[in-house]
Amino acid sequence: MAQVILVTGGSRGIGAACCRLASRRGYDVAINFQGNARAADAVADDVRAAGARALTIQADVSDAAAVERMFDTAAAELGPVAAFVSNAGVINKAAPLADIAVEEIRRIVEIDLTAHLICNRAAVRRMARSRGGEGGAIVNISSMASSLFGAGGFIPYGAAKGGIDVLTQGLGREVAGDGVRVNGIRPGLIDTDIQDDTGVENRIARFGSTVPIGRAGTAAEVAEAVLWLLSDQAAYVTGTLFDVSGGR
Ligand code: NAP
Repeated sequence: MAQVILVTGGSRGIGAACCRLASRRGYDVAINFQGNARAADAVADDVRAAGARALTIQADVSDAAAVERMFDTAAAELGPVAAFVSNAGVINKAAPLADIAVEEIRRIVEIDLTAHLICNRAAVRRMARSRGGEGGAIVNISSMASSLFGAGGFIPYGAAKGGIDVLTQGLGREVAGDGVRVNGIRPGLIDTDIQDDTGVENRIARFGSTVPIGRAGTAAEVAEAVLWLLSDQAAYVTGTLFDVSGGR
């Protein structure tokens, strides 16, 4: 039987690239999305074309009950989740912290930090051997914004991503003896739809050349690192952060 992977925000960008690569690496794939069912269906078609089983699951990752249903549906339809990618995320419009509405700060922290805690909790409750699980691997998608502190308009986002880094390093140690590995990826400037949500025009074209490697990255390049961290080749890697940032 193929192993089952569940990817939050699997409908677009980095999550979609993870789903597509996972199908080519032999996983059956559960694709979570929030609102864009058409994009999720397109990813599912590609997964099936690669010979794997695919399932799309609508769930807002900041809703704990919906997250429980998401894991249970994936397990019921495809089998126990062995690999989990906590990827879904949003970004605030670039602005000084002093000018960002409190509701917007709460929204960013809710989706970019609290939801990852909720999702990791749900994953570990199912994977941990001491709880009857079969073990597994988790990759959390953080950002270089955490090490750059979100300076330049993204402090709520950067602060939430810093929280994800602590979650990854802490949980990785907490469950290391329980058959579960937890690692994080910190992408740099990656060419996806999220760039449009920053309110900064042509962000990739304007800033790609400032990255030490000379260009922005692709979602597929991030997915390669995610799939490696989930694989048995990374069996001795846990509680660590891996930068995919072109040297940024
Ligand atoms: P994207 O292209 O905008 O895709 C975002 C994905 O997250 C979509 O699949 C979206 O679903 C889903 N999503 C958003 N809010 C959700 C919610 N509440 N519940 C469930 N799903 C939700 O973004 P991306 O660039 O691929 O980003 C993916 C991750 O990488 C994020 O955590 C982001 O912070 C991180 N990252 C990105 C970059 C970059 O430069 N692109 C850099 C560093 C880190 P729908 O399609 O249904 O809307």
